[in-house]
Amino acid sequence: MNNEYTFYTIIVAGGSGKRMGSDLPKQFVDLNGKPILMHTIVAFANNIYQPKIILVIAKEDEVIWNNLVKIHQFDTPHQTVFGGKERFHSVQNALKIINEKNAIIAIHDAVRPLVSQQTISSCFKAAKTHGNAIAAVPAKDSVRRQINQASEALVRSEIYLVQTPQAFQFLQISQAYLQEFKDTFTDDASVVEKAGYPIHIEKGDDFNLKITFKEDLVFAEAILKAQTL
Ligand code: C5P
Repeated sequence: MNNEYTFYTIIVAGGSGKRMGSDLPKQFVDLNGKPILMHTIVAFANNIYQPKIILVIAKEDEVIWNNLVKIHQFDTPHQTVFGGKERFHSVQNALKIINEKNAIIAIHDAVRPLVSQQTISSCFKAAKTHGNAIAAVPAKDSVRRQINQASEALVRSEIYLVQTPQAFQFLQISQAYLQEFKDTFTDDASVVEKAGYPIHIEKGDDFNLKITFKEDLVFAEAILKAQTL
């Protein structure tokens, strides 16, 4: 079914994760017996599209990661590359090792370990037809935009909260990442959009949370527990 394409996943784990308030970058923190990052890698390794996995870690975290791999006897195949100053540069470094016109590349935050198989598959599948596909969920709360001292209501039904994975055909993503870095590049879709490609949204899931603060770990543990009941 997928013979025309080679599938890749770049898992970005090159950040310092300081917002969590621990010395250990959050992607290495334990979640139900194994580091968050291992949950994330395994989720993609188990996917029906069988992507080749490229892991981006900061050079200074290499020793931590190698130790964790040993301790947990982690043998899921992945290739490791070193990260850069911003997430943008980390993705750029990983893209350098892919040179296949027929590649579809999903990029995923290491700190989203609870991504569902359905979300991963629907992004890979939709990227084949649309050129790209990103996971996003419709806003549930009312949303406002702050403008100077005042604020204005936005049309909630038009607002989506963007997650990862974000999957792209090789041509789009490789071309987009030739651009200079801009502060407004908060995810891959913003980079690809700036290069002129319209972005296709696929349904993400509410459990695909980004573990950013300590409290998020509590939610993640509860979700994992509920899933194994
Ligand atoms: O910093 P932020 O929370 O947006 O990070 C999202 C993801 O990008 C994390 O998984 C983080 O490890 C990764 N990242 C990276 N290289 C950086 C900064 C962040 O791979 N220089």
